[in-house]
Amino acid sequence: MAETSSKTKYYVGVDLGGTKILSGVFRNSLECVGTAKLSTKSQRGVPAVIERVARCVREALDEADLPLKQVAGVGVGAPGAVNFAEGRVIFAPNMEGWKDVPLKKRLEKQLGLPVFIENDCNIAALGVHVAELKAKPRSLIGIFVGTGIGGGLIINGNLYAGFNHTAGEIGHMVLDVNGPKCGCGNKGCFEALASRTAIFQQIKAGVKDGAKTLLTDMLGDHLDDLRSGDLRKAIRRGDKFVAHIVEDAAEYIGIGVANLVNLFSPEVVVLGGGVMEALADEMMSIIVKTARDYAMPGTMKGVEIIASKLGDAAGITGAAVLARRETR
Ligand SMILES: [Zn+2]
Repeated sequence: MAETSSKTKYYVGVDLGGTKILSGVFRNSLECVGTAKLSTKSQRGVPAVIERVARCVREALDEADLPLKQVAGVGVGAPGAVNFAEGRVIFAPNMEGWKDVPLKKRLEKQLGLPVFIENDCNIAALGVHVAELKAKPRSLIGIFVGTGIGGGLIINGNLYAGFNHTAGEIGHMVLDVNGPKCGCGNKGCFEALASRTAIFQQIKAGVKDGAKTLLTDMLGDHLDDLRSGDLRKAIRRGDKFVAHIVEDAAEYIGIGVANLVNLFSPEVVVLGGGVMEALADEMMSIIVKTARDYAMPGTMKGVEIIASKLGDAAGITGAAVLARRETR
């Protein structure tokens, strides 16, 4: 049960994704006291999605038995380029019609609370840094592998947003100029090689070409309901086809880590997102070995490469951290 003293202030963190909206109510200590989940339904248009975000905030508060007035602030991680100062989503590639949306202003109007907007992967890195890592490294790179691949950079203890507030777009580092086409228009981007979307596409193409896999026994020929957890099950039952595709993706992630370590020399590299949550046991050793093979000699000394245990909660936790930071 949440404490209902009128003095206690809470923070709500929202993770707005292309397919689902997650929200969580947090105490000042970052203990989560209630969560909610809604599908995004981005095809219904921008105003409808903003209403769903507000509804998701109210549902999490209802779960926690708390009124809106006990919330000090709401943080939102949005999937795209964000103007933090103006609270605008400049562009969200996976959501229909999201161009220059004043999300902060519109949500504040709906909720009557201060709202703060950040890029979703920046916020997830912040969540891991503040809520998960006890040692509080001065520098950290978060790599989040899900539908796409995103990143967040903590430099000198602070989130690094960059000149245009677009830093951390690591999913579009080109790792293979002759590689598969990416949603951004380039070829061989990191996320076109190693995201869940990329892994699923390779599996579907292989099945079409007659590859033998347990996934077709599990799900039939369509494979549209494929989830990261199915890959883990298939690999553990000895599915060589799936294991090979997942190993290739892990190698590309290792190469991505090596590039980033060469560039930033971080103390810690944290891997998160849905794919890592489901497949860390299968992928981590390959990622670490490949990163060490590809990085410049000397650059990996003492660098920790770890999997986040926050999973899906990294986004809502980081969004609550943002709200706490901005309302103090
Ligand atoms: Zn790209």
